[in-house]
This record gives sequence, C-alpha cells and structure tokens, in this order.
Amino acid sequence: MSRTTVATIHLGALRHNLARIKAMAAPAKVMAVVKADAYGHGLERVARALAQEADAFAVAALGDGLRLRAAGHRQRIVVLSGPDQPGDIAEMQRLGLDAAIHHEEQLRWLAEATPARGLLRVWLKVDSGMHRLGFAPERTADIHARLATMPGIDREIGLLTHFAESEVFDGTETLAQMACFNDATRQLQGPRSLSNSAAVLGWPDARADWVRSGGLLYGLSVVADKTGADFGFRPAMTLSTRLIAINHIKRGERIGYNGTWTCPQDMPIGVAAVGYGDGYPRSAVAGTPVLIGDRQVPLVGRVSMDLITLDLREAPLAKVGDRVVLWGPQLPVEEIAAQAGTISYDLTCGMTRRVLFVED
Ligand code: PLP
Repeated sequence: MSRTTVATIHLGALRHNLARIKAMAAPAKVMAVVKADAYGHGLERVARALAQEADAFAVAALGDGLRLRAAGHRQRIVVLSGPDQPGDIAEMQRLGLDAAIHHEEQLRWLAEATPARGLLRVWLKVDSGMHRLGFAPERTADIHARLATMPGIDREIGLLTHFAESEVFDGTETLAQMACFNDATRQLQGPRSLSNSAAVLGWPDARADWVRSGGLLYGLSVVADKTGADFGFRPAMTLSTRLIAINHIKRGERIGYNGTWTCPQDMPIGVAAVGYGDGYPRSAVAGTPVLIGDRQVPLVGRVSMDLITLDLREAPLAKVGDRVVLWGPQLPVEEIAAQAGTISYDLTCGMTRRVLFVED
C-alpha cells in the first residue's frame, strides 16, 4: 500500500526539547512522559532518542512499561495510573516499574500480593484539587504510614500530585493545589513531583524533586495563544501529504459534503490526500491553514475521511503532486488545534495506522 500522508518525527527536536526542559527544571530531575505512544510520535522511537538524557520515563499503563523494558531501557519507568488490577503488581515488580498508588483498592492488592523478587517502588498520589486520581489530602499521612509498613515495598515512597490548569499562569488554582499538596506532605519523607509541562514554564516553585513533562518534549504548548516555539521548544512532528487534484470551480458552486462553503468567484480548488481517516481533525473549520511551498492557503468545506479541499487562489503555481504541510515547524499544530476546537496533544495523539512514520 502506498501511503501519501507522512508524519516526520524530528529526533533532534526531541533531544533539544529535553535538554531545554532539564535546564529549566534543574536541579529537579525530569520524567519524560511518553504515554499514548509518546503523544503519537512513537514510543520506542522517542525513548531511543531520549534514552541517554531522560532521568526516567513516565507512561500511563503497564503495557507501555513492558514495551520500554523489551526495547532494553533500564531507566526508572513510572506507571502514572497503575496497577489497574491485582495481577499487575507482580508484573510491575518483575519489570522494575514504579507504581502510582491512588486508591484504596490498590492498597488491598498490595497487601495481598505474593512477595516477588525485588522491591516495588511506589508513588503515593495526592488529590490536591483536580479530583481525578489520588487520595484525599487529609489521608496522605495515614496511607504513607500503611505503605511504609508493607513488605515488598521500597522504603523511599514518592509523593505525587497533578495540576488541573497550570497553563493559566495568573490563576489561583495552581497556587491552591501547591499549598494543599505541601500541607498534606509536609511531615513526610520522599521525593516529590508536582509539575507537568505548563508548570515547568510558569510555576518555578512547583519544580520540587521531579518534573513530569510530556507536551514540551514534543514542542507542544497548551498555554493559550502560545506555541511551543514561543518558549524556545521545537516541534517534533511534521504532518504532510500531497495535492492530488486541482479543479476549476464556478462562482456560486458549493464545495464538499453538505456544501458548507460557496465559491465567491470562479476559482481553483485543490484536493489534498488527507482526512479524518488519517487523524486530521474533522472539526477543522474553513480557513484553517495548510502550507504549499511557502504559501499558506485555507481549507474550505468539510474535512472528509480521505481528503480535504483547499482554496488555491493564493497559490497560483501549485500543481498536482506538490507537498502539502498540515502542521510542523512552519505551521504550528497549536494553530490547527485552535481552529479545530481542541489542543495540540489531541492532534498528535490521533494519527491513525494509515499514516507513514519516518524519522529525520
Ligand atoms: N503527569 C500526569 C499525571 C499526567 O497525566 C500528564 C499528562 O497528562 C503529565 C504528567 C504530563 O503533562 P504534559 O504533557 O502537559 O507535560
């Protein structure tokens, strides 16, 4: 099968971004967050690129930890939301994965686990206000004490929390979460980790012992109206395809499904071989830019499964076969995400198996 839509992963950008995060976060260590197939960039590829410099990796699920161990990585690997079931514990011990303990049920599984070789490293997750995962702050000391007496558990227990809106640099929510976490853990020993990418940028007081950065590794920002590049990071993915048709359509004719866009004059309409079947967002509105050569041209009409339609009036020299860049260093994915009503992470995570991945 010949595939026209290509995601090019820029390994140099990944390395640059990790080095920059390390410099900003120092002396805190950095967990490179590679969950969701490294935000769609490819888990093994990204881990290989970052292996020399990452202090640890963080993943969402045990299966990703298994993949990293199978690829030969010896770093610490933190499973941010597991174990998910009792049997995971022995497997995590066997693989030497750190577990995030966030609910009572997991404590029961730990207490009942058959001792396996090696100590399980755990992070106690405190719910400091996001109300997704974690123990209520007032229970922290009690849970810590219980963990500390369990056999098979490493004596150094990490303390973890996650911010709900650290990208809002002038808000009060992150300050409140920091205060809550600090109060809950003040009397306890152990490495602390609070910050995600946005907190690395905007909340230096939250860096503690470990930061957990995903988005910035890939050059992505979730700060409103800012791209990763605005903070000195480099996009790690370019998504591109080809122009496969140029049609001359008459004034007043409507383009694509449901005819949502009407030609204001006789004009060339380009057709590019990408659609929501590749992961290009169906919600992208008319006006969303793509790049052909050095020209930005707007999408018109609905995004369909395999194709998008483009207003080529500003690109009179465009021809069938030309490369069309959907996002990348010259066209921030944050801009496309904003046009589609979502965030950049959602787009890079959404690449389907039809997309060909290459590295440069
Ligand atoms: N820590 C936890 C618990 C997360 O769920 C995530 C991602 O959602 C991260 C860290 C990394 O966040 P970011 O990609 O914004 O750096």
